[in-house]
Order: sequence, then C-alpha cells, then structure tokens
Amino acid sequence: IKTIGVLTSGGDAPGMNAAIRAVVREAIVKGLKVKGIKRGYAGLLQEEIVDMEAKDVSDIIERGGTILQTARCMEFTTPEGQQKGAEICKKHGIDGIIVIGGDGSFKGAQKLAALGINTIGLPGTIDLDIACTEYTIGFDTAVNTAMEAIDKVRDTSTSHERCSIIEVMGRGAGYIALWCGIANGAEDILLPEKYDYDEQKLVNNIIEKRKHGKKHHIIVNAEGIGHSASMAKRIEAATGIETRATILGHMQRGGSPTAKDRVYASTMGALAVDLLCEGKTNRVVGYRHGAFVDFDIDEALAMKKEIPEYEYQIAKNLSI
Ligand code: ATP
Repeated sequence: IKTIGVLTSGGDAPGMNAAIRAVVREAIVKGLKVKGIKRGYAGLLQEEIVDMEAKDVSDIIERGGTILQTARCMEFTTPEGQQKGAEICKKHGIDGIIVIGGDGSFKGAQKLAALGINTIGLPGTIDLDIACTEYTIGFDTAVNTAMEAIDKVRDTSTSHERCSIIEVMGRGAGYIALWCGIANGAEDILLPEKYDYDEQKLVNNIIEKRKHGKKHHIIVNAEGIGHSASMAKRIEAATGIETRATILGHMQRGGSPTAKDRVYASTMGALAVDLLCEGKTNRVVGYRHGAFVDFDIDEALAMKKEIPEYEYQIAKNLSI
C-alpha cells in the first residue's frame, strides 16, 4: 500500500472529521500518501479527488459534519458504476480506501474490494444501527444534543402541565429514543422495533400518571414511527390534556462532537490505516466488549442487531 483514499458516505455524523484527521495523519506517519475523495461515491465517479497533507486536517476535530462532504449515489449501486470507481482509484494510484458511513456505504466498499481495491469501513452514523459494533461515530453527540433539547422542552412542559411528544432521529432504529428515554426520564418511549401502535395504551398511561400527580408527560417518539403532530392532536382529544409535538430533526446531526466521539473516531481512523498497512481488505472496524476490533464486511453485513431488552425494560420501570 502506497496511497490511500478516504471518503464519507451516506448521512453525515459528528466525529467524521475526527476520523478523517486520524486517517490522514496516521497514514502520513506510516509513510503513505493520502487522497481525499469528496462527496462519497458520487465524488469518486466525478474524480473529485484531492491530495491531503497534515495541515489540511487542522482545526477540524472539533467540527461537526464532514469536510469531505457526503452524498448518496445511485450510479455506484450498478456494476458499471463500481467498475468505473475501481478504475478511477487505480488511475489515481489509490490502492487502499477507507469508507466512513453506514451499511449502504459498506456494501459499496465490499464491491470495491472485490474489484481489487483494499477497503476498510468505519461505522459513521448517528443511528447506532450497525450490527457488528456497539459504538458508531456520531451517536454519542447526537444523543447528547437530543437529551439537552428534551430537557428544555420538559421545563416548559412541566410549567404548563402538558404532555409533550418529542420526535428524535432514527428511521429504522430506536437507539437515540431509547437512550433519551432513560437519560431524560421520559414517561413513554416509542421505538420502531417495539411499538405496537396501540394508542389507547398510551392514552391510559397518560391519564394514570396524571392521577398519580405527574405534572408532565414526555413521550420520546422515534422518527421511524413519526406522525408526532397528528398523534399529539389525538392524544389531546382523548385525554383532555394539552399536548404538543416537537420534532428535533437535523439539529441532532450537527454540532461539535463529544469527547467520546472525538476519541473513538480518532482511534478507529488510525486503526483503519494500520489494518490497510497489514494488508487487510474487505474489513469493517467495530467496538465490542471494550475493544476496537475488525470484522469481515460480508459477516458484518449479515449480523443482526436488536434493542437490548433489559435496557428497554429499565426505561419502562424507571418511568413510573
Ligand atoms: P446512513 O446510515 O446514513 O443511511 P448508509 O451508508 O447506510 O448511511 P446509504 O444511502 O444506504 O447510506 O448508502 C450510501 C451510498 O452507498 C449509496 O448512495 C450508494 O452510493 C452506496 N451503496 C449503497 N448500497 C450499495 C450497494 N448495494 N452496492 C454498492 N453501493 C451501494
């Protein structure tokens, strides 16, 4: 390996910049050249490729988003697009590539590996929905951002003795909702993996808790369930309690990464370079049982992840 490329793909996540910085600097320390590929696979196919030096990643560890920009690219899901991508890598002397993104981005990396470009994937997503790892770059920051926002909504909700539905991100995965449920002491959490769409149960719970003297009722609703505004109207009609919906939206994706996201993303970025130096390919980096590890991408993509039942139960038990 002489020259490596790095790209970010799929949704952006705070900490991606820390990972890019680590890739660039670890590679330079190991005597490699680094090329930044802009706008994910779309930028690869457009040859938006720039040389990166140590100074190019100064002052970015504390910034959210990704300095390389990110994109989704339909063309790269076709065999012709993948072939073109591999040829462009070869043309630019890129013999190893580090892809920071989610499962979709790893599928792209898998295709490049099959075409002879050594690839390592880094889990970058605020949703924590990558099965092989207990940590993904951006989740910690996103949860802290959502938690702080929910604290604020709760203050006003208590003062007005309202019910508040707060919608957090997570289209297919309820991890942000679960964590906020526990961290914010929410009365109810609605997770795509668990919700049975029995609104009457919700209504009964709100009325019951109100009887027991609760001054607010916080419902953390995951984006995958959504429809928070119409849900609020129905709940207000059924309970007679003023109910408001707040959708936190993209604010959860931005902002300066937490110390954990900076440190873990930096470690994973450096490890990805070290794995390439060892000649490894078609691997994805994960964090499991307190250690940074790597898995075969095919195996990682075949793994399944479920909401931990015990944590879910705790969230419910602590909301009495
Ligand atoms: P997020 O968690 O934000 O959804 P992701 O990496 O899963 O991140 P996707 O939009 O699924 O996001 O994938 C990102 C890009 O990866 C796609 O736009 C596409 O270019 C590439 N990609 C996805 N699936 C495949 C595939 N099966 N083969 C090749 N490339 C793929």
